[in-house]
Amino acid sequence: MNRPIPHFSKDRFNIVLGPCAVESKEMFSHTSNAVKSMGATALRGGLFKMRTSPDSYQGAGWSGLEWVRIAKQETALPFICEVTDPRQISDLDQIVDIFQVGTRNMYNYELLKELGKSEKPILLKRGFSARIDEWLLAADYIVREGNSEIILCERGIRTFDSTLRNTLDLGAVAFLKKKTGFPIWVDPSHATGMSEFVSPMALAAVSAGADGLIIEVHPNPIQALSDGRQALTLEDCSILLDKIWKVRAVLWNK
Ligand code: PEP
Ligand code: MN
Repeated sequence: MNRPIPHFSKDRFNIVLGPCAVESKEMFSHTSNAVKSMGATALRGGLFKMRTSPDSYQGAGWSGLEWVRIAKQETALPFICEVTDPRQISDLDQIVDIFQVGTRNMYNYELLKELGKSEKPILLKRGFSARIDEWLLAADYIVREGNSEIILCERGIRTFDSTLRNTLDLGAVAFLKKKTGFPIWVDPSHATGMSEFVSPMALAAVSAGADGLIIEVHPNPIQALSDGRQALTLEDCSILLDKIWKVRAVLWNK
């Protein structure tokens, strides 16, 4: 299948901004409107969160669907959301423009096969211990079912060093750009786990040739229900976006 989807193809640099989780109607609307005015090309926000501990916040679930619908109406931006279970696909399809497969589900081949039947693009995050060849084979599961609109997302891997949350593999970005036809995005938020390192890694990703960035922002990170430590404030996000446009202009003439 070869459907042109200009918004998410390599022809356009995408900056996807939003909170880790869609926490409430007010918070998601406020954040969405703010990032739209900064130049976001799509919104992000999880409804079903894959948390390491069952005691951690699990996401708003289906009650967040309406909040997302409102924010989409207000901003007219596409929405990207993680799908954690094949049974969610048909209902999420009403509001989701790109389905995200999270790092923990990269090896969930039944989920990948179901998403292969979707008409929507799939953002396939790299499993945190996945080799590049395993990642590409996971993409193959989606392609074989008829959906070749895949965006690969490097979000950091586990290495011997645990100082940062993960180790951002920018070599993988340069490699995949050369060796595959897929757009490659980078998530510097989960890669570093600390907001002060998100901007430098976002700029490094742009320099490495990434086709897009997906970044967590929160109007009040200290109050965030998940991943507040890595969330950029709206102000810091705006400063980063100015730098991104400058780096792209200098390096890529864009
Ligand atoms: C996310 O994007 O909110 C997320 C959970 O990402 P990852 O699967 O990469 O940890
Ligand atoms: Mn998160």
